[in-house]
Amino acid sequence: MYSVEEARDVLVAHSKVITKTTYLPLLSCLGKVLAEDARAVYDQPPFPRSPLDGYALRGEETNGASKESPKQFRVIGKIYAGQCFDGKVGAGEAVRIMTGAPIPEGANTVIRQEWTDFGEDVVEIYGQSKPFSDYCPQGEDYQAGDVLIKKGSVIDGTSIAILASLGYAQCLVYEAPRVGIISTGDEVIEPGSSMIPGKIYDSNLNYICARLLEKGCQPMFAIHAKDDPANVSDIIKKLAPECDLIITTGGVSVGEKDIMHEVEELVATKKLFWKVKIKPGAPTLSFICGETPVVCLSGNPFGAAANFELLVRPILYKMTGNPVWNMPVLHMEIQNDFKKGRCRRFLRAHYENDKVWLPEGNHASGAISSMLGCNCLVEISESAEHGVSKGDIVCVHLL
Ligand code: AMP
Ligand code: MG
Repeated sequence: MYSVEEARDVLVAHSKVITKTTYLPLLSCLGKVLAEDARAVYDQPPFPRSPLDGYALRGEETNGASKESPKQFRVIGKIYAGQCFDGKVGAGEAVRIMTGAPIPEGANTVIRQEWTDFGEDVVEIYGQSKPFSDYCPQGEDYQAGDVLIKKGSVIDGTSIAILASLGYAQCLVYEAPRVGIISTGDEVIEPGSSMIPGKIYDSNLNYICARLLEKGCQPMFAIHAKDDPANVSDIIKKLAPECDLIITTGGVSVGEKDIMHEVEELVATKKLFWKVKIKPGAPTLSFICGETPVVCLSGNPFGAAANFELLVRPILYKMTGNPVWNMPVLHMEIQNDFKKGRCRRFLRAHYENDKVWLPEGNHASGAISSMLGCNCLVEISESAEHGVSKGDIVCVHLL
């Protein structure tokens, strides 16, 4: 039986890095991985510009100006942001200018309007400004040719702003992994359908879909299938060529209706493993169908969730290089006691400020409700024979 790390390494070794790229409209690139260097074609700003509303003039001519001894300049024009001034500012001249407008040739600073009499033909100024002091030089932010965002970076809100300022309406990004999800179980019905004795609503399919969506990956398909090995095999065989990864839930244990073993016999081109040394979700099964890894998780909702996080996320990390799939591991002081058996255990938990709490509810692998608000998994090693006590330092895997 593999350890979690061994199972993860096998899965990662059988997963391919996605190299296909596509152009997407700028805002659709949020959360995607950039597949080209984002390089500036223009200086930013593309021209020296005014940081103030005031008067553009030659700073050296303002020496000694004050309220008591103002200096006068002839106003030879007026420009707003978005306009250009055609002439040149000469000795004793000024141009009325607004923030964001290009500083006219000849001028080298801007006197803020609060230090003037707002004159229209002639302006009196009451303060001095050194050349280039109140002046945004061309290329102050970045210059033509600069690489602002490197290929392989994840595009966040700030990157979107930078890409927009570079003029990108669309960007080349790596395609998202094509992930298919199948939940199995005769007892499982779709939320919204009428409750029937013996049935339960499907939470696993929705957990996995939601987690993919939360991390910016739209699932290719998400379907429920009955415990019919021929049908599940057909679905996997048909859809595997279009998927980079298939995740299933349910039917991996040792019961008569645990059909995924038969499915594996029918469709696997390579078997990878069955069972991992972990609680919950030990009976995880995995194989390759054609070229597509198929990971079959336990049907128990917390078993499916924990193994999705611990085993499936590393596959998606390898495929995308996107750190949203990485699970940082930290060490924290646990705030509860927890008794466990011999198995290596992963518990749902909540961390804050370097401390971690276990929820009070049910920790069974079949229970999902106590996972509400949890933001991590606490690992209790096999060697911690009797579990952990408040104050112990534990390994915390951030979700
Ligand atoms: P299985 O792995 O198929 O033996 O299922 C283990 C337990 O998880 C059983 O109690 C199932 O009813 C339950 N279960 C299976 N699939 C789902 C699902 N999609 N959503 C919620 N519970 C499920
Ligand atoms: Mg079942």
